[in-house]
Amino acid sequence: MEVTLQNLTKVFPSRNKKSGEEVIAVNDMSITIPDGKLVGLLGPSGCGKSTTLYMICGLQKATGGKIFFGKDDVTNLTPENRGVGLVFQNYALYPHLTVKQNILFPLQNLKGEDKLSKEEMLKRAVDVAKLVQIDNLLDRKPSELSGGQQQRVAIARALVKMPRVLLLDEPLSNLDARLRLQTREEIRRIQRETKITTVFVTHDQEEAMSISDEIVIMKLGVVQQIGKPQDVYDSPANLFVAKFLGTPPINVFSGYVKNEKICIGDDVVLPAKGIEDQEVWVGIRPEGFVLDDNGAFHCGLNAVEVMGRDVSIVATNDNAVSPTIRAIIPSDSGVDHESKSVTFSLKPYKTFIFRKDTEERIYLEK
Ligand code: ADP
Ligand code: MG
Repeated sequence: MEVTLQNLTKVFPSRNKKSGEEVIAVNDMSITIPDGKLVGLLGPSGCGKSTTLYMICGLQKATGGKIFFGKDDVTNLTPENRGVGLVFQNYALYPHLTVKQNILFPLQNLKGEDKLSKEEMLKRAVDVAKLVQIDNLLDRKPSELSGGQQQRVAIARALVKMPRVLLLDEPLSNLDARLRLQTREEIRRIQRETKITTVFVTHDQEEAMSISDEIVIMKLGVVQQIGKPQDVYDSPANLFVAKFLGTPPINVFSGYVKNEKICIGDDVVLPAKGIEDQEVWVGIRPEGFVLDDNGAFHCGLNAVEVMGRDVSIVATNDNAVSPTIRAIIPSDSGVDHESKSVTFSLKPYKTFIFRKDTEERIYLEK
């Protein structure tokens, strides 16, 4: 089921009567979520991810714009009539019901022609329990399950009605690191097997990158960029997106373009053919540095952190926005741990420049 959001907007009235400022939680959002894909909705806390999700499922009414499931305009439908499954961060299971009863619960409320026989309900419940691999736990109560198992029950409960669209709001946030990894692989597998169009909300860029067919990056209610995770990482549309994706994060410098060259301080680091003279932000990915005695970019050397395959060079530069910068280079590059300075050349496809005022990307000729 393809999901289309058309100029979707949500404005909340002010909570504080005195200040009177309303909150535009989602601002003119237009995206298409392709049929059968898993799309990650990504952005910092408060950027409007949950509000978007709740509008898709019908728990929040849109202030403006439309929502389509395929060709159906569902903007004014109730949640029950949209055919969506929703999973929250806190699993929200019924504590007094067993796993089986929890999964059966949504089916018992079906009315009219959707109503199922007892046998059909049970078969469906067991089928989804198998899918999420909790079929051996059906008679337990939620309190007798681990966090990861509880979240699987919540996913089974969302799937049992065979939703047209599956919506997951930070479903892994309450799990410890190892379970988070494992459960995220599980969600990916289940999504691939069921091919249900899925929207996965998270503030964790690594989680979104690893699980999604496409990511949508939001800031203050506004979509910043949409694309395949690798494409967005390799070609960020603005400084916000560049800084949001990647660990360690991109290194940002105050620089300028002069005579079609990118400069940082006195260092002329890369060509910038056809670009007008101006001040710019220069973003360099940690893997964009190459150790090079004849390199153009001069930095102070603070520390070399051994990571095994790679080393992380902690360096300084007067024009860096943060006190230290980080370069990741192969450990066999022969870095001198004792030196006080280091010189690099830069990989052009790992270096981006952005307008100083709008922070929009300035695209360099290849
Ligand atoms: P996210 O899920 O990305 O963290 P939300 O969608 O929950 O963000 O919130 C987006 C913005 O809308 C925030 O500024 C938040 O404070 C505000 N907001 C969310 N729900 C309400 C509400 N019911 N009333 C007023 N403001 C709200
Ligand atoms: Mg949220």
